[in-house]
Amino acid sequence: MSTNKQSRVQSRRVSDLPEVKRRRRLENLLYTGKRVSQLATEYRSHGLEEHIELYLLQLEVEQVLADEFPDAFEEHIGSWAEDEAAAEHRPLVTAETCSLCHAISAHRADGAEAPLAA
Ligand SMILES: [Zn+2]
Repeated sequence: MSTNKQSRVQSRRVSDLPEVKRRRRLENLLYTGKRVSQLATEYRSHGLEEHIELYLLQLEVEQVLADEFPDAFEEHIGSWAEDEAAAEHRPLVTAETCSLCHAISAHRADGAEAPLAA
């Protein structure tokens, strides 16, 4: 009986590390999933073909999350969909939250005069 008890204590201590790893994996999946869904939306808003690859990646991340952390998936998938809907914008509109819009306007500001003047 006592050996049984001891091995249970040991196995709990050993499982601390996987628990930390698991939490880190969950955080990575959540971060990646959110970022990828944001990028897919931005690329789609700009009519860029890469949005398809990003969308497939998004589905893949969501699938892994749903398989490994169903509770976290349920908890976050709704807000991701809301973020996506909010981030989507029309092709000729500049959106404050869109990183591609920021990149484009930064590029324009940098090289606005140079190519024409040369
Ligand atoms: Zn944009």
